[in-house]
Amino acid sequence: MDLQENLQQVEANICKACENAGRKRSDVTLIAVSKTKPVPMLMEAYDAGARDFGENKVQEILNKKPELPEDIRWHMIGHLQRNKVKYIAGKVELIHSVDSIRLAKQISDEAQKQSIEIPVLLEVNVAREESKFGFFTEETEDACREISKMPGIRVKGLMTSAPFVENAEDNRKYFKKLYELAVDIQSKNIDNISMRELSMGMTGDYVVAVEEGATIVRVGTGIFGSR
Ligand SMILES: *Cc1c(COP(=O)(O)O)cnc(C)c1O
Repeated sequence: MDLQENLQQVEANICKACENAGRKRSDVTLIAVSKTKPVPMLMEAYDAGARDFGENKVQEILNKKPELPEDIRWHMIGHLQRNKVKYIAGKVELIHSVDSIRLAKQISDEAQKQSIEIPVLLEVNVAREESKFGFFTEETEDACREISKMPGIRVKGLMTSAPFVENAEDNRKYFKKLYELAVDIQSKNIDNISMRELSMGMTGDYVVAVEEGATIVRVGTGIFGSR
C-alpha cells in the first residue's frame, strides 16, 4: 500500500471507531508520526491531507520544519531534555511529553522569557512500565497542582504510551484509566489546568484508544510504514 492509501485506511478506522463510540470525527486529531522519515515522505503525507506531524527529537523538528509548509502543526511527542526546551519553545503546537516537575519549570521559564504561553500535556506512565517516562497515576494530580502555579505553561490534558502488545484489547484498561484520571482531575477545578485533551493510541491500538476517549492519536507505522 502507498502512503495515501495508508492514510485513508487510518482515517476510515478512526471514523468507524468514532461511530462505535458515539463520538464525532472532529473530536479526534490524527497526528502523523514522522520520526526518522525523510522530508519528501512528509510532503507526500501533507499532500494527502495530513497537517499534524509528531516527532520525538528536537533536532529532527528543527531540521524538517523549515523544509515543509508553514501550516503544519508540529507535536513534540518524545522525551524532552531540559537543555533543549529553548530550541522548540514557540515552535510546536503542543509538547505531549512533560514527565517531570523540573521539565515543567524549565518550560515555564522559557515561556516567560519569550512572553508566550506554551501548551503541554502531562505524560502518565499508566501501566507503570520501568522503561517508560511519565508520572505515575497517583502523582499526576499533585503535579497538576504544582504546575498550575507556574506562569506561561498551560496544561491541556494527559498523554500516555501504552505497552507494546499483540492484542490491542489488552491496552483498553490503560486507556480507560487515563480517561478516568482526566475526569477526576478535571473535577478538582485546578486553576489553569484543563483536561480536555487525551493523547493516546498508536498504530497497534488507536482504534481502542478512540473508543475509550482519545482526542489525539499518534500513528507512525500505520501511515509511513515500518521504521
Ligand atoms: C513512535 C511513536 C508513536 C508512533 O508509533 P507507531 O507504533 O509507529 O504508530 C507514537 N507515540 C510516541 C510517543 C512515539 O514515540
